[in-house]
Amino acid sequence: MAERVALFGGSFNPIHFGHLIMARSVAEKLTLDRVIFLPTANPPHKDATSLVDGSHRAQMVTLAIEGEPGFVLDEFDLRRSGRTYTIDTVAHFRRRLGSDAEVFWIIGADSLDELIQWHRISTLVDSCHMVVASRPGWDRLNFDVLRACLSDAQITRLRSDCVDTPRIDISATQIRSRTRQGRSIRYLTPDAVRAYVRKHNLYADSPAGPTSSAP
Ligand code: ATP
Repeated sequence: MAERVALFGGSFNPIHFGHLIMARSVAEKLTLDRVIFLPTANPPHKDATSLVDGSHRAQMVTLAIEGEPGFVLDEFDLRRSGRTYTIDTVAHFRRRLGSDAEVFWIIGADSLDELIQWHRISTLVDSCHMVVASRPGWDRLNFDVLRACLSDAQITRLRSDCVDTPRIDISATQIRSRTRQGRSIRYLTPDAVRAYVRKHNLYADSPAGPTSSAP
């Protein structure tokens, strides 16, 4: 049977339970064989100032998915120079996985609003299943704005590829901010990631930094 593989790109700065629970839910609902986590070197749509080095982010993904069946890390996007466009990543994995594989690209519902700015979005949505997962705060999905760049058939397909996943109200922004303030990030990200953040003193770039009592 054809392999069903989802590519899950993100800054993962750091990875958290919102990513992990959503990815597990999508994998189960779409009966995926693999979810490939792809930390992005230079996310085209994000401010890079708070981004820690790719090697740290990849290491935290490794710790977070360790032992989880079907979850793997790939550093393809981290090794590329210049801007990393999703369409190039999908083309690369299509070649690598072979023509039989069914390829999915996972995004959270908040990213739907940004899709219109993605490089060659029309070709991209034709080259894989773009899966939109739920995210708290983005319950009403607005596909209308995409009419400027996608056909009715493409939008219908996008709608049918939405997956209802548990609403986990966690963001990497929240984790970075709490760390700066010296507040606990326990229960937001796996313990191994929390320990890594602490060991490498990540996200502590405010004058106060994390307090020694913060777990
Ligand atoms: P930041 O707060 O730094 O913007 P983030 O928490 O949104 O980061 P990213 O690594 O940018 O995390 O997200 C990668 C992908 O995962 C995006 O498509 C995003 O929509 C999705 N995602 C992130 N957090 C969640 C969540 N809690 N629930 C569902 N999807 C999520």
